[in-house]
Amino acid sequence: AQAEIGLIGLGVMGSNLALNIAEKGNTIAVFNRTPQRTEEFFHEAGDLQDRVIACKTIEEFVAAIKPPRPIIIMIKAGDAVDQQMELLKPYLEAHDIMIDAGNANFRDTMRRFDALKDSELTFIGMGVSGGEEGARKGPSIMVGGTEESWKRVEKVLTSIAATYNGDPCVAWLGENGAGHFVKTIHNGIEYADMQMIAEIYGILRDGLKMEAKEIGEVFGRWNKGRLNSFLIEITETVLNANDPLTGGPIVDVILDRAGQKGTGKWSVIEAQNMGVPATGIEAAVAARSLSSMKDERVAAEGILGLPGAALEIADRTAFLADLESALLAAKIGAYAQGFAVMAAASKEFGWNLPMPTIARIWRAGCIIRSQFLDEITKAFTDRPDAANLIVTPAFATMVQETDGALRRVVSAAVLAGLPVPALASALGYFDSYRRGRGTANMIQAQRDFFGAHGYDRVDGQDSHHGPWGSGLVSERS
Ligand code: NDP
Repeated sequence: AQAEIGLIGLGVMGSNLALNIAEKGNTIAVFNRTPQRTEEFFHEAGDLQDRVIACKTIEEFVAAIKPPRPIIIMIKAGDAVDQQMELLKPYLEAHDIMIDAGNANFRDTMRRFDALKDSELTFIGMGVSGGEEGARKGPSIMVGGTEESWKRVEKVLTSIAATYNGDPCVAWLGENGAGHFVKTIHNGIEYADMQMIAEIYGILRDGLKMEAKEIGEVFGRWNKGRLNSFLIEITETVLNANDPLTGGPIVDVILDRAGQKGTGKWSVIEAQNMGVPATGIEAAVAARSLSSMKDERVAAEGILGLPGAALEIADRTAFLADLESALLAAKIGAYAQGFAVMAAASKEFGWNLPMPTIARIWRAGCIIRSQFLDEITKAFTDRPDAANLIVTPAFATMVQETDGALRRVVSAAVLAGLPVPALASALGYFDSYRRGRGTANMIQAQRDFFGAHGYDRVDGQDSHHGPWGSGLVSERS
């Protein structure tokens, strides 16, 4: 046995991660269900072949790794992982660690972790973000498992992770499902971020009637300012790319029907389970679902037509500046919600999730990497127990500076019939969250009226039921 580590699954992510691991000076044993892929991979490894042991059978693979063995499983999430683990287990020895690095549902990770808890084998659930390029050059890595198991893989994971100003974007976040939960919320926030960008693109395209290249220039400018991030950068690149078939902008020939694999939906479900609003992520998931109803939308446009009003703006330059601030404001809302969901889950599952660390390891390597996450890191480092990101001093100021622009942009878009569900969700969230006296007194009165649910009083006096009267009671029964 000579390999320090093993990896199963040489798909897009696994093969790039394996090359990254080898490049950092580690010898790695690799295995893939379809052996032909393993051969191809070995060929692709080129100069790194010295540090790659390509194995055709699981037995050979396990034997090639020095015990105690860390084994990364980077395959299709779901049942495939259980099947692969069952095939692997008979060959493993005490203290070997199986590391599921795919996009697992954290509830599956908890189940797998529990199933192995009393055995001599160890399980780690690890979220990896950064796509193909991240896996190859340095992803952001979110680790869940025992602290002891983390210590055993810390060195190799630190060597392959992205860095932000020299700081590695990898951390142990807590027991069992913590890493995969945080990865799920990372993806949920990514959904919201992408949807908000798409809504702003829609205002520029359909409201201001701008061409793709002109919109690309706008995003390019924004990428030099406070919105500086990977997603804004690729938006500019995408808008500037041409279609090889028509020669025109590629975005204009791409069908407006978005796919989704589940992490956005899981974020929303878990947020709802815990009673924490995640309206930005919800809006983004719903928007993808609506996008997939292409035929229905086309038919509805035929029946209902589009709202006739043109986008009303007095000053184009000022409106463009408003769009930039609006996007920042809406982004703050989505991130605040994502972090609030993680804070609730941390209590619910006893993880003690470190918020500043999560923001810190998202600053580079992952899809939502940005300068903005550095600001979140600072805000949570200063106020680790803040109830919500938007009430930390730095972000409270940012919300006050930008929510006026968000208000103007959402109003203008709504009047022109341009859909902005995610941008509007952030506004609704701010306006509800910051209002000390809300309107749920009406909900409570109604609930008491028809269901005798009772209510609390503002003056703290005991009072449980309203004076609705017996006549009303008989009418409602
Ligand atoms: P690919 O589709 O490129 O590769 C899938 C891999 O899974 C192949 O190696 C395939 O083997 C293997 N596999 C599928 N079913 C089984 C099975 N039943 N038993 C054993 N192996 C199986 O996927 P990706 O590399 O894109 O994704 C891998 C994981 O990483 C997924 O969980 C994904 O959600 C996650 N992920 C993906 C990201 C991305 O940007 N693509 C980003 C972050 C995470 P075979 O060659 O034999 O078919």
